[in-house]
Amino acid sequence: MYDYDLLVVGSANADLVIGVERRPAAGETVLGSDLAVHPGGKGANQAVAAARLGARTALLARIGDDAYGRLLLDSQRAAGVDTVGVLVGGAPTGIALITVDPSGDNSIVVSPGANGRLTPEDVRAAAGLFHASRVVSAQLEIPLETVVEVVRSLAPGSRFVLNPSPPRPLPAEVLAACDPLIVNEHEAKVILGGVAVGDAEVGGAAFGDRPEDWARVLLAKGPKSVVVTLGSQGALVASAEGVERVAAVKVEAVDTTGAGDSFTAALAWKLGAGSSLPEAAAYAARVGAVAVTRRGAQESFPTAAEVEAR
Ligand code: ATP
Repeated sequence: MYDYDLLVVGSANADLVIGVERRPAAGETVLGSDLAVHPGGKGANQAVAAARLGARTALLARIGDDAYGRLLLDSQRAAGVDTVGVLVGGAPTGIALITVDPSGDNSIVVSPGANGRLTPEDVRAAAGLFHASRVVSAQLEIPLETVVEVVRSLAPGSRFVLNPSPPRPLPAEVLAACDPLIVNEHEAKVILGGVAVGDAEVGGAAFGDRPEDWARVLLAKGPKSVVVTLGSQGALVASAEGVERVAAVKVEAVDTTGAGDSFTAALAWKLGAGSSLPEAAAYAARVGAVAVTRRGAQESFPTAAEVEAR
């Protein structure tokens, strides 16, 4: 019997958002809107998304001993996430400085801060959490060597889900543990070696411009399964059983921030509850679809009842 449906290992950031008429040029100062501060970071977002759906969720992350760290702890606890694994200190809380212009385009500077200090040693010290968790998920806003240690710390029988964002080439040991590896188009390209999808040959396997082909080539790199998310086009899943499309739910999207995080959390939770990969991805697509109809990241994540109501 597991204590947690999902253990999320990853980043926690404060998103500091200012609206601007236009971005400043070098040496220039522009006035912006009032500051809005939101809890964010892919790890924190996934944990909140899962807990809101009803998953018993724990977060392993590092924050600073500062006001932003306390904001992040409060938002995790309010969603019902167990924060026993949230470590404090070593650097300021990670920050994303975001300016948004009237067309909605973002410019973002990230200071990883404490996220960069989440070490393999921190992972080893959390062995109890790993043994208590049915599924473990991670992203790449923490050091890669920490993600490698996550893979080495998985308890027998538990399942590992990775969204390699921001993407970078991955060691074979990490790829082999993924069940599934969840990528969007950009992440797929980087994992496949940074080549232009559509006109290249990777690892001896030819592939074209169809996501089905990327999924097959990604699968050949070692993961037990692959999910490619395709925004308003839905997703597709690939495993030894073949490649299958997952239809998108038709909605009026107002803000896609956090769609990928809510999709990943929902998929991880459903897989742990015994759903097949296509079933779990279909549910995750419904969760992602609700999230894009609302503004913000964590604020946009639905409860299970809200997903059912659609
Ligand atoms: P993020 O912006 O969080 O990085 P991502 O690129 O990782 O997102 P997306 O493919 O944009 O992930 O979205 C994840 C899932 O959410 C999609 O596979 C889809 O099921 C759902 N989704 C996203 N956008 C829409 C949309 N406009 N309409 C319906 N469903 C959507």
